[in-house]
Amino acid sequence: MYTIKSYLFPEHLEEAYELLCRDPKNSAVLGGCCWLKMGRRRIRTAIDLTRLGLDQVELRDGYVDIGACVTLRQLETDPLLTGRFGGILGRSVEQIVGIQFRNSATVGGSVYSRFGFSDLTAALLALDTRVVLYQAGELPLEEFLSQPLKFDDILVKVRIRDDGRTAAYESVRRTSTDFPVLAVAVSRLGDDWRVSVGARPARAARARAAEACLARGEGAQAAGAAAAGELSFGSNLRAGGAYRRKLAQTLVSRGAKACMEGGDGQ
Ligand SMILES: Cc1cc2nc3c(=O)[nH]c(=O)nc-3n(C[C@H](O)[C@H](O)[C@H](O)COP(=O)(O)OP(=O)(O)OC[C@H]3O[C@@H](n4cnc5c(N)ncnc54)[C@H](O)[C@@H]3O)c2cc1C
Repeated sequence: MYTIKSYLFPEHLEEAYELLCRDPKNSAVLGGCCWLKMGRRRIRTAIDLTRLGLDQVELRDGYVDIGACVTLRQLETDPLLTGRFGGILGRSVEQIVGIQFRNSATVGGSVYSRFGFSDLTAALLALDTRVVLYQAGELPLEEFLSQPLKFDDILVKVRIRDDGRTAAYESVRRTSTDFPVLAVAVSRLGDDWRVSVGARPARAARARAAEACLARGEGAQAAGAAAAGELSFGSNLRAGGAYRRKLAQTLVSRGAKACMEGGDGQ
């Protein structure tokens, strides 16, 4: 459990960022607090973003913009998302704890934290996704994931190019609602394939050799083998690295097949 000394509702992003900069070590930008409350932290200044209008999913300039305060449950129910990208954003989160939890946990808290186990990050990485940070500006999700974790900026929104990609999401869990043992997403727009593998247990990464296999038409099984060969897989209490590697082969192959059956996205 955490304690909060001062709980503030900034009216503008600029104000929120100024509050964070004043004392970054002892301040926290709040998402749904689902992760924060698992730890033991003394927060001097809690920065609540809920008055900033960041709880919307919108179509803008050829992108689907998802505000930081959009909940995981909205990803499952918002019609702008259920009908796009094979519905993978909703599918990727549907096994996270339960509906009440997903009504609180946010996209901002999930993506900014760069959890290795993140189902959502694995799904977003297989799409053409950018993140918008208040201070650092807009950058590709992949670049953001390569950066070390520092709580010194505010994630404002996630942007996905609305390019009509078809996509598939696959994960394996020891039990329903547990953290994923492996999370895989595959997407296709004509010959442009994207393969993302998360919960390795390291952060999600693109499997570029697998993508190249698919672009050359070498088939789903070859792509699965390529992904298993090119990425690193580690062990934790949920599974060993060798098992994860085998799973990657199967799940990438399965995801690629589903995209082939779903058409080329064009
Ligand atoms: C029991 C449990 C089981 C879970 N299982 C899974 C699972 O199976 N799969 C999965 O993918 N995830 C899982 N999660 C993670 C969950 O889905 C959320 O990602 C997590 O709770 C964070 O979301 P939140 O909105 O509650 O963030 P918070 O707890 O509010 O914040 C988390 C961190 O992010 C920072 N933060 C929040 N919003 C922003 C922002 N906009 N900009 C910058 N920093 C920000 C906070 O300061 C804090 O440091 C689980 C979490 C819990 C507690």
